[in-house]
Amino acid sequence: MFGKILLTIAVIAFIWFGFKYLSRLAELRRRDEAEKAPPPHSPPKDAAGEAETMVECRVCGTWQPGRSARSCGRSDCPY
Ligand SMILES: [Zn+2]
Repeated sequence: MFGKILLTIAVIAFIWFGFKYLSRLAELRRRDEAEKAPPPHSPPKDAAGEAETMVECRVCGTWQPGRSARSCGRSDCPY
């Protein structure tokens, strides 16, 4: 009876320490990947390219991205 309880405690302790070891490994791996990844605050290249192609409407004076410029609704708008 006592031996069974001791064995159960040993098994639980073994599983507990095994789980702790695995979670520590996962944490170290996650930290490694975070260091390799580029910083999130750096602007993407697409946004910078789009900002350069902004065009101003001569009639209404609004700024729009050159690739997707739309008419503002006025009859003499060039877009
Ligand atoms: Zn316009």
